[in-house]
Amino acid sequence: MKIQSIKGTRDIFGVNLKLKRFIESIFLDETSKFGFQEIETPLMEDVSLFKRSVGESSDIVQKEMFLINDDKDSITLRPEGTASVLRACIENSLFDKLPLKLSYFGPMFRKEKPQKGRYRQFYQCGVESFGEKTYGADLELFLLISNILKKLNITDYIIEINNIGTNDEREEYKKDLYAFFKQNEDSLSEESKKRLSSNVLRILDSKDQKDIDLCLKVPLIQNYIGLEQQNEFLKFQEMLLKLNIPFKINPFLVRGLDYYSDLVFEIIDTSNNLGSQTALGGGGRYDKLIEDFSNKKIPAIGFAFGVDRLMLCCKAPLTNNPIKISLNSTISDLIPIFLKTKNEFPENFFLDVNLNYNLSFKKMFQRADKISSDYVVIIGENEYQKNQFKIKNMKTGIETVVDISDYSDIGQLLLNFLKTT
Ligand code: AMP
Repeated sequence: MKIQSIKGTRDIFGVNLKLKRFIESIFLDETSKFGFQEIETPLMEDVSLFKRSVGESSDIVQKEMFLINDDKDSITLRPEGTASVLRACIENSLFDKLPLKLSYFGPMFRKEKPQKGRYRQFYQCGVESFGEKTYGADLELFLLISNILKKLNITDYIIEINNIGTNDEREEYKKDLYAFFKQNEDSLSEESKKRLSSNVLRILDSKDQKDIDLCLKVPLIQNYIGLEQQNEFLKFQEMLLKLNIPFKINPFLVRGLDYYSDLVFEIIDTSNNLGSQTALGGGGRYDKLIEDFSNKKIPAIGFAFGVDRLMLCCKAPLTNNPIKISLNSTISDLIPIFLKTKNEFPENFFLDVNLNYNLSFKKMFQRADKISSDYVVIIGENEYQKNQFKIKNMKTGIETVVDISDYSDIGQLLLNFLKTT
């Protein structure tokens, strides 16, 4: 039987792995500049954590979690980061010192239908900012998002924003929305008919054309939000304009997770690099969630980028490949000297040591060519007798013979040679 990777998972290697690491380093650099500290949480959590935070009626809890078959089915691979970070903060008393700003980077697992930009094991990098209710904290996150995207040279994006009100306001809105959809039930898609009683808000971001047409006539959440909140939202938009952060209001944006309130947003790719999956990331405020878990009133806001999607859109050049020099000899005594030289050589070069001293010169060159060496050093019996080494520039084909009295000086001589060519 052929053993294959599990549906929706993929191997990441070569340039792709470099790209993922590059994104991780940019993310960690930029978040630490803003005072976020990294946290790592386990890949497994109690199922009830997500039922209580993300919500019983969310797609994640309803059908997307990878449950681990222990006795009670009570463990799951984590489908998202916020709930785990929150659990970790409560368990480790991290909320004793506020404000608190945390970041995370790692794999998440959701049983979704795999397609371009959508996997069953995918990576998210995100932040959570606890303890600040002002729109300054919201703005800080948007600035962070735009800085990270700029560093990754991702310019074709827009941040869609919406204000979904406080929990009470949203409950009022949901009642009216339910009544509207109930009256027009025949015009709803089959999927949305099911959502009518379980999660009426989700009908608003349905991709089905029938629902989209009907949604043009729905009551809007804006009309349910208090005046003070509306003014704050306007001020927030003015600041986004001043900071040149591209955004637009999407009154139908609700996000699929129960814990959000007030500001929600999604970072949308406009370059068509992602096919039908256009969201590079998303987030929002969740001011009530911590109270539900710990009785502490702590406002919070967070976002997560989908790293796999950033990888598909990132145009930033990866750091230049270092110059690669391949060391080869038919003299076995030289191999340990080569290895010592490699160990001490400056890190901006890549010194490759061919450990096989039994190869012919032809095979040594073929090997060096295969690994894309820029220079090849060869020391055969002839050179060894004469205290010399040969170095060939693989691009120009020029071969140079260099005198050397002690082979343990080869590192220094190579550096001198590279300086003069
Ligand atoms: P969410 O937690 O659903 O708001 O997701 C935040 C971001 O994670 C999304 O905007 C995507 O960029 C990314 N994401 C979510 N689900 C997947 C998936 N199955 N595969 C790849 N990326 C995903």
